[in-house]
Amino acid sequence: MNVQLITGGTVYTADAEESVHAGGAVLIVDGTIAAVGSAPEVEESAAALDPAQKAAMKRTDAGRMMVLPGFVNAHWHEMFAMRFPMRGALRPVSDRDDQVAFMGGGGDMHQISATFDRFDDLIDGMTPDEAQAIAEYSMWTQLRGGVTTLGDMGSLNRPQSMVAAAQRLGIRFSASTWASDAICPPDQDTFVRTRDADGVLANFESLLQLVNKDTSGRIRCRPSIAYVTNMTDELARGMADLVAAHDLGFATHVGALRNEVELMRAYYGETGVRRLAELGLVDERLMAGHCAFLDEQEQKLLLAARAHISHSPGKYGPSGESSLTETGVVPALRRAGLDVSLSTDGSSMPSAGIAETMRAAWQMYNEMSADQTEVLPSDALAMGTRIAAKGLRWDDAVGSLEVGKQADLVLVRADDWRYLLNPRPLESFLWLAGSADVDTVIVGGRTLLSGGKGVEVDEAGLQERYLEALGAFTTRTLRVPSEVVGRVLGPVRSAGQGQVTR
Ligand SMILES: [Zn+2]
Repeated sequence: MNVQLITGGTVYTADAEESVHAGGAVLIVDGTIAAVGSAPEVEESAAALDPAQKAAMKRTDAGRMMVLPGFVNAHWHEMFAMRFPMRGALRPVSDRDDQVAFMGGGGDMHQISATFDRFDDLIDGMTPDEAQAIAEYSMWTQLRGGVTTLGDMGSLNRPQSMVAAAQRLGIRFSASTWASDAICPPDQDTFVRTRDADGVLANFESLLQLVNKDTSGRIRCRPSIAYVTNMTDELARGMADLVAAHDLGFATHVGALRNEVELMRAYYGETGVRRLAELGLVDERLMAGHCAFLDEQEQKLLLAARAHISHSPGKYGPSGESSLTETGVVPALRRAGLDVSLSTDGSSMPSAGIAETMRAAWQMYNEMSADQTEVLPSDALAMGTRIAAKGLRWDDAVGSLEVGKQADLVLVRADDWRYLLNPRPLESFLWLAGSADVDTVIVGGRTLLSGGKGVEVDEAGLQERYLEALGAFTTRTLRVPSEVVGRVLGPVRSAGQGQVTR
């Protein structure tokens, strides 16, 4: 029997009314939220529990804390195997000679399409053990920053290994597969098919079978296609059939970059959203990543279908994507009533977490609108919790602190100089704190992080296994000379081992 009363903190429920309780409390019974509200109200509910439950009840004093729903990161990619190439560990320490990257300047579409299509071969070059070690460390960095529900939108990793990693860590995970069956090479006038769509669809079907065997309730799955530039009609129609047959969500990237429109017209005869609509993929199941470069008709298609947009403003600056400020499309769609949620997207480096992404949304949308009420801190929180859960189609169980939902909670200390005399701790958190300030993470009533440290997993051990797997994969599959890998990893690993023994 697991009964917990977390009492005294500022509780942000992220429910539909954005209710906040200063001096609030949350009662958890067997992994589910049994009561939430002001401390006296919740104490009454606790007093009404049966005697055995009352005897088992554990009290946590959260008087100096802010209590939030677990963050939902519904557009993420596991990419930690690529720490060496792709603007990674082999860069010089100085950034003075950096060039515009392939997502910058409107996007080098040919290179993006070709790079995305190579993922399959790289995944095949990874052993299941390596894949799991890499996924565990990568997912750990998400959990460490307060993410309790993670939505894969296609990863450079083995889906089965990611499911195993999520089960071991205890994080909620919506799994997916990497799906690309076409590229747009330069100097051609049409796309080139790179593999059989049936094989790509079969990958997802085998993942679905694995996920259906899960008994934890923390693993789900959702088909995704890497990008509209990498999709034949056969792949899109096959995914639409899978989605309908199994009542699943669907995710893809579309309208991401300025140069996408021209390329899509040239190689596929139609722009991304129109093409998705023609192929049966634009409806309320769709989570579309980015959606900055849409024309008026495409915006209307998304609005009419009640589709969902996931935006990652914490990532756009560092990767050079002009997905927010250049067009203003997404704030307009949000104002028109479309659900827009926040996500981190993916990178081979630990990048902006959900906290930093909420900060970016709060500050950037307001700056664009010259109106500090365009996105309130509580709006940013909802976009990283309840609305994201809806987009992931997991809002039946997570995304807000409400009776009957799963007890997924994030606790942040709010008692230092950053919070002094500010009655709104969420505002101080978004301004001055972030992922590293998350103190406690609870998933389904089970505490996975406490005092910023793993309860059941040892961070140094996870890191060491990650570095070992990374070194082997990088040498064997990416063919980086072993002396180069050794030179980079050697000092890091000896420092890491020092941590383990201390
Ligand atoms: Zn993405």
